[in-house]
Amino acid sequence: MISCRCEIAPPSLLLRVAERGGREARDAALRTLLTSAALRSRRTALGATLRRFGLSPADLEFLPAQAPATGPENTVYDVAGGGEEALPGRRVRGTDDPPTGDAAVDQAFDGAATTATFYREVFGRDSVDGRGLDLVSSVHFGRRYDNAFWTGDQMVYGDGGGGVFVPGGLTRSLAVIAHELTHGVTQFSAGLAYRGQSGALNESFSDVFGVLVEHRAGDVDAASASWLVGEGILEPSLGGALRNMIAPGTAYSGDDQPADMDAYADLPVDDDPRNDNGGVHINSGIPNRAFAEAARTLGGRAWETVGPVWYEVLTGGRLAPTADFAACAALTVRVAGERYGEGSAQQDAVRGGWEAVKVRLPADPR
Ligand SMILES: [Zn+2]
Repeated sequence: MISCRCEIAPPSLLLRVAERGGREARDAALRTLLTSAALRSRRTALGATLRRFGLSPADLEFLPAQAPATGPENTVYDVAGGGEEALPGRRVRGTDDPPTGDAAVDQAFDGAATTATFYREVFGRDSVDGRGLDLVSSVHFGRRYDNAFWTGDQMVYGDGGGGVFVPGGLTRSLAVIAHELTHGVTQFSAGLAYRGQSGALNESFSDVFGVLVEHRAGDVDAASASWLVGEGILEPSLGGALRNMIAPGTAYSGDDQPADMDAYADLPVDDDPRNDNGGVHINSGIPNRAFAEAARTLGGRAWETVGPVWYEVLTGGRLAPTADFAACAALTVRVAGERYGEGSAQQDAVRGGWEAVKVRLPADPR
């Protein structure tokens, strides 16, 4: 199991606001970045310790292998402006409790429930770990904190309002919530290392299933979908969304995602936020677009066409934690052939998606 502190907002976006915004916005963006660094080191240590024993948090809680059909426990905490030392905060809503009237609490609760239902009903997966792991969310993290993240064992949402996200924006987007929970799914399945191409794949799987949860909840088909992640939650002066999967690089002003391998950002893996762990939120645009192109080619419900192929690749035990784009692409083509038949329209669409973004595939045997 490899855990990450996986955030929704790219560090480059926070840096842009820090560099160009007023003093308040700068301070808020820097606080967000610095908190990230502090949490990351602690979570890495915890994840490494569990990994040494081959354990996940679920193992330590002695959960039954089969959770009831009603799904995992869903609990929301209010950290009331506190930082990491205050997590998870005060328990404000549990699985069977009515709405609280606090929009962030209720949106985090509903988004987690909708995401868990998606994984259970579409893929037969019981919570993020497949073993009924409790869903824990903390809201009102930090002051004007412009990010949301998965810590390795829970979700955390800031209130926004620091210059990047509109106040309350982070819990308003179902795709953002599903994106964060999918980092948990990845952690407990392929365990993609959060750096370079494997990290960009980690980010991309979260975007893919983030939008698929939103598609299913709104019964949106692949042809009419916007393919935007985090629509309408950025400050309007920045742009309309965090990511555009069908047209990477166009979501907001300064969006630096490449649309294909010709524009791949070859960045070092270091502590400089500009380099984004080797471009995990930047190059993720490439596999994002491969998925969206394949889904659009096939039309219909993407969670029933290409979604199951991506899910099998992520969770089927064949994708290495350090996989690169080419390895992932080859596996999606193979899995599409297994699921729908060699030479099927579905397999051709998957192949076409990767060709559109210029990721090299093994030769077509036909
Ligand atoms: Zn992420």
